[in-house]
Amino acid sequence: MKKAFITGVTGQDGSYLSELLSDKGYEVYGLTRMSSVNNTSRLNQCINKKNFHLVYGDMTDESSLYQAVSDIMPDEIYNLAAQSHVGLSPKFSEYTANINAFGLLRLVNVIKSLKIEKQVKIYQASTSEIFGNSEEKIFNEKSKLNPITPYACSKSYAYLLAKCLRNEGIYIVNGIAFPHESPRRPDIFVTRKITKGACKIKLGLQDKLTLGNIYVQKDFGHSKDYVKAMHLSLQQKKPDDYIFSTGISTSIKDFIIKVFNELDIDIRFKGVGLNEKGFDAKTNKIILEISSEFYRKAENIMSKGDNTKAKEILGWNPEITVDELIKEMVQEDLKQGKSY
Ligand code: NAP
Repeated sequence: MKKAFITGVTGQDGSYLSELLSDKGYEVYGLTRMSSVNNTSRLNQCINKKNFHLVYGDMTDESSLYQAVSDIMPDEIYNLAAQSHVGLSPKFSEYTANINAFGLLRLVNVIKSLKIEKQVKIYQASTSEIFGNSEEKIFNEKSKLNPITPYACSKSYAYLLAKCLRNEGIYIVNGIAFPHESPRRPDIFVTRKITKGACKIKLGLQDKLTLGNIYVQKDFGHSKDYVKAMHLSLQQKKPDDYIFSTGISTSIKDFIIKVFNELDIDIRFKGVGLNEKGFDAKTNKIILEISSEFYRKAENIMSKGDNTKAKEILGWNPEITVDELIKEMVQEDLKQGKSY
């Protein structure tokens, strides 16, 4: 039976990946850090499984990683742990680098000191943010790095480190993932902020949503599809870099319209820039406002990925459309909202 070690197991992707791997018969070990509140709510579906285990450790503490890896001796490591919020990363730039960049370095140092670097396969959770803004309309594995935020810089370091490690014969994959969402996304991320806020408006629990730049275009997928790609990428003979994307981009404004439509609310927009507002066509109430508070100094305005390589080599195909993703998120947020 294969053993998988997942860092970032309590996060969105870590939880779906745990379900996927435990269903495949893996012995799954997830790294969790000390928290003053229970942070395992996303793991409800596998926490009681016999082949799922939590181990304590922290990406900033090499000795805890050594303890975890030496106890487990995994076949596959999925390095998902991160300070994953792009917008917050300028506020916590050192912390972001410490986890996202040096976390991988520590993990690899541990593997080398245990002399298992030629046995273990590693997945590194890279991101489309490493490409930043560019003239390119659609990014692929050969696109130039142009990070524009501390988050993207930290992830660029880990991406480049992974490439260097391959020269030493270490099996390490860079999964360059475009945004992927789910009902398990925290509401500090814009998609969940929208679905949760819109559901609360529908239920009369909130008056309006306040957002930043709604003209940003993102290539949104579902986390469930992306964890399948992560697993597939470690089942190949050779490690490589892969773009994980849907190839379709949606503006935040269209995402908002689709969410309100799902709730039978016809949202109409008036005004421009910071004065743009969204109205409920039936009641004429303002249900959306724009605020400079949520504008980012540095933001990828347009992102779309070319997933041809992952399709051809891994046989991966994202199956969940953005409309299906929205439907699932809205249904979950309505259910949660009704229990407030
Ligand atoms: P997430 O929900 O924010 O989860 C992050 C995980 O990292 C959590 O389990 C968190 O633990 C853990 N973590 C943070 N700091 C840690 C530390 N010092 N030591 C140990 N664990 C720590 O992220 P996600 O959306 O699942 O994304 C998974 C990975 O893919 C991340 O590396 C992210 O940067 C990358 N990625 C995500 C997307 C996306 O759209 N979701 C796109 C591209 C790349 P706590 O629960 O204790 O906070």
